[in-house]
Amino acid sequence: MPFPQASVGDSRIPLAMELNMAMDLAFYNFTINPVGFAAAAARQYVSQVTAQLDWIYSTTSGRILLNVIRSPTFPVEIHPYTGGGCNADTDIVSGAVSFTPGICLPAHDQYGRLPDELLFHELVHVFRVKTGKLDMAPTLSYGMRRYDNNEDFIAVLCTNIYVADRTNLVKTGLRASHEGFKPMDPGDAARFGLFASSKKVFALVQKFCKDNPIFTKALSDKLPDVYYNPIADYYRYPKICEALSIYGATKDASAVAAVLSAAGLPKAVVDQFVAMVL
Ligand SMILES: [Zn+2]
Repeated sequence: MPFPQASVGDSRIPLAMELNMAMDLAFYNFTINPVGFAAAAARQYVSQVTAQLDWIYSTTSGRILLNVIRSPTFPVEIHPYTGGGCNADTDIVSGAVSFTPGICLPAHDQYGRLPDELLFHELVHVFRVKTGKLDMAPTLSYGMRRYDNNEDFIAVLCTNIYVADRTNLVKTGLRASHEGFKPMDPGDAARFGLFASSKKVFALVQKFCKDNPIFTKALSDKLPDVYYNPIADYYRYPKICEALSIYGATKDASAVAAVLSAAGLPKAVVDQFVAMVL
């Protein structure tokens, strides 16, 4: 559930303020708690996190996400991240977010790794907690394992749509997976590419859309023509997306076969494992 990079001197902040896009924290029932910081450092932390929230709020996809999280009975706290490395985290029970803008070096700013992109990723987890739909149980098919689990598959997917959102004026690029911050393979980034990448993508996108119809339909309806929006494709062309699962299964199988063959297993054993994957 990771993230980074400083907001001090961030040219996007005055732009968000100029556009009068400040998020009303009280309205959204958000609290920024600078626990562990004192005086000026605490004020700076609050200011930096506020700037990231304002940026998210200034975008179409960000506003959609914040609006579906908002509830008078679901307070959201954001406090400093104290784990190692440059990362962020969300409590899967309370929905509290551990996040510190600026803990990563600029060199770490890769795909999906700007502070607002990291925070958006965590807020997708918050949304799933808030709606009671967070579900780590579904298994990922072989070609999806780079997402680590179902929830991070969903968070990476939604953050990539946030990156593609035209109203998000400063961003990195499409993130390949939940392992590191590498750019997405051009085949996966192509239209319908996600559904063709692995067998279970369609079923898990379908489950996500059934779990959270208001959020996913809004992402589909408000962002129908951005360069990457598999959720919009799912709603418009479900049969095509489902049919591509078959192609995804063959990609899973060939990926498994390549790994096992490289490990020196006999072909008969490889074939057995491949049959299990399919
Ligand atoms: Zn995550």
